[in-house]
Amino acid sequence: RIAYVNGQYVLHRDAAVHIEDRGYQFSDGIYEVTAIYKGRPVDNDGHWDRLERSLRELRIDMPMTRGGLDLVAREVVRRNRVRNGIIYIQITRGVSPRNHPFPKDTPPSIVMTARHGLGSKPEVAAKGVSLISHPDIRWGRRDIKTVSLLPNVLAKQAAYEQHAYEAILVGPDGMVSECSSSNAWIVTKDGALVTRPLSNDILGGITRKRLIDLADAEGLRVEERSFSLDEAKAAREVFVSSTSSFAMPVVRIDDSVIGNGHPGSIVTNLRARYFDFLESASGP
Ligand code: PMP
Repeated sequence: RIAYVNGQYVLHRDAAVHIEDRGYQFSDGIYEVTAIYKGRPVDNDGHWDRLERSLRELRIDMPMTRGGLDLVAREVVRRNRVRNGIIYIQITRGVSPRNHPFPKDTPPSIVMTARHGLGSKPEVAAKGVSLISHPDIRWGRRDIKTVSLLPNVLAKQAAYEQHAYEAILVGPDGMVSECSSSNAWIVTKDGALVTRPLSNDILGGITRKRLIDLADAEGLRVEERSFSLDEAKAAREVFVSSTSSFAMPVVRIDDSVIGNGHPGSIVTNLRARYFDFLESASGP
């Protein structure tokens, strides 16, 4: 395996950054994960847009042009011979003696890695997955895709320890924000799709956006509004979305069975439309 680290392609097992990288010391950095399907990046522009926005919000300079980053990403995919997989891109504020304020004249650090394998086994989506509810203890800028993921890690670990696929994160007001590494959706009794509107409270998922467009094209009603954990537990269907889960049906939250305990027809159809999209439009 090959990784890209600050201008060089190196063996993955030898890839390293300095101990005084601010990503390591302060989680002062951002990342992206882009799916690679049949060798091509999926929703490439959306991911680069979000990466640029995350950097801008944290006032980290773009380390090179978007075109340059894109070339490196494709080269990492090529060198690792990834057909279906993911590329991981991380940019931090760079290496500097530990001190909280931004360092001057320090170039950002860039790391890119690629991995084979995209999505879960088909059986997982066919059966549907379970969620546990978990308090959302994160900060006020969840719209930035920062590597500061400790609350997400703790929530996901709690889910895994209870043999659940994901943790659905709930604010003190009882409202769902999203999941530890995906966006949350419900389908109402009358067949409308509901997902939380974009704000500082959630990460603007690229898959979320794509599914909204696909749902619109299917003539489904999409309501961007907040919903409570109770509403989710009583919903006709529930699903989560992310770069690697696509649209993943949920059949249980905590002790509540969703619908009849099987993936619903709306998410099943939407997932199929997402596969059509992967086939048709993931290039160039
Ligand atoms: N929310 C959070 C907290 C995430 O970490 C992710 C995935 N990185 C998402 C939502 C889904 O975003 P995307 O569809 O762009 O993968």
